[in-house]
Amino acid sequence: MNRRTFALTGLAAATALVAFRPTASRADIAEGPFPVTRTDAEWRTMLSDEAYDVMRTGGTERAFSSPLNDISDMGTFHCKGCDNPLYSSETKFMSGTGWPSFTSALPDAIGTMDDRQFLFFVRTECHCARCGSHLGHIFEDGPEPTGLRHCINGVAMTFQAA
Ligand SMILES: [Zn+2]
Repeated sequence: MNRRTFALTGLAAATALVAFRPTASRADIAEGPFPVTRTDAEWRTMLSDEAYDVMRTGGTERAFSSPLNDISDMGTFHCKGCDNPLYSSETKFMSGTGWPSFTSALPDAIGTMDDRQFLFFVRTECHCARCGSHLGHIFEDGPEPTGLRHCINGVAMTFQAA
């Protein structure tokens, strides 16, 4: 292999890596049926581009991008897709990760499944139990009382003050 061929091969490999990265960073999307269902066109109409990307295609918002990250008022965080109450401010904590974080969800508010988008480890995905919209992931490095960290995309929720 001469130097030019090597350089081209390297370029092709780098291009392939870049092409794969968006797929690898996405979460699996839960399959229904869910109590609330909408067509793809309806979702696109009611959600911003960023919310659609997160909630309907498993994307992740930019860290520290959501105003909900800084909210410490008493209230409830609702699903932006169907207004289902998901998390109480009583379980919210400042994780420093840049995403709204909670130790637990409200009863029966969310569903979970194994997310196998990363080849070498399985993450726990969580989604709205009513409309199936992707919310975030649950990690086992949270504080008491559950030891869990629900790492949620703020763009998938609205906040209603108590
Ligand atoms: Zn929902």
